[in-house]
Amino acid sequence: MELSVIKKDKDVLRFMVSGVTAAFANALRRTMMAEVPTMAIDDVIVIENTSVLFDEFLAHRFGLIPLTTDLDAYTLPEKCDCKSELGCNRCRASFTMEIEAKDKTTTVYSGDLEPDNPSIRPVSEKIPIVKLAPGQKLKLEAYAKLGRGQEHAKWQPVSACTYKYLPTVSIDTSKCDGCGDCIKYCPKCLLEMKDKKLVVKDVEECTLCTQCIKRCSKEPCPIKVGWSETDFIFLVESTGSLPATKIVEEAAKQIGEKASELLQILKDTA
Ligand SMILES: [Zn+2]
Repeated sequence: MELSVIKKDKDVLRFMVSGVTAAFANALRRTMMAEVPTMAIDDVIVIENTSVLFDEFLAHRFGLIPLTTDLDAYTLPEKCDCKSELGCNRCRASFTMEIEAKDKTTTVYSGDLEPDNPSIRPVSEKIPIVKLAPGQKLKLEAYAKLGRGQEHAKWQPVSACTYKYLPTVSIDTSKCDGCGDCIKYCPKCLLEMKDKKLVVKDVEECTLCTQCIKRCSKEPCPIKVGWSETDFIFLVESTGSLPATKIVEEAAKQIGEKASELLQILKDTA
């Protein structure tokens, strides 16, 4: 297996994995979505709420705020030694909020949550929660814990996580007369003429639409569009709770752990 990074920044990672099967690529995708833990608010204690939204509605909105996650400092509640329903400092982060609209309408934002641990805070401070009319008040406590996307989408670390087969485009130069008609029909503008010969650039951007073949007047068409069964291009977009590279790293670790668990079971039953 080979891995090469195509584009990398904090929240977006594009990379190619070669020499694997579609089953493996899908296992990696599903693990990133469903098994990599992140922090999310799971419990809200409403002390005072005179806003127009019900308590349940507010709690739901708080739950969906992406929170920065520290996987080294926190552990999953089911794996924590405290075995307490309320949780402890190792498995729970808390927030408080107290806002009153005095004489003008006030919007409550995610940034108004006061974290007890500054390393666990909303990814964006500008997520609107509710508007308070003059005189309305909101006072609450919120508790976040680690969880997995398979339980609820609020714990999913990725907003987008996809893969596609690496496209392959070949041009038989002995049959292509270089008329260039196909160039203008490629919606991704991937074809160009170089030294009077048709060439493809950025083949990984190809969407396999085959417009180049459909618009070609030659019979049989010298262009062949296909894909590789063993090369996959991944796009991982983080919600901001974890860096995109960390999500891939953590997913790979999870797959490894599951594989060794399976081996152990097979050994024990042998
Ligand atoms: Zn605990």
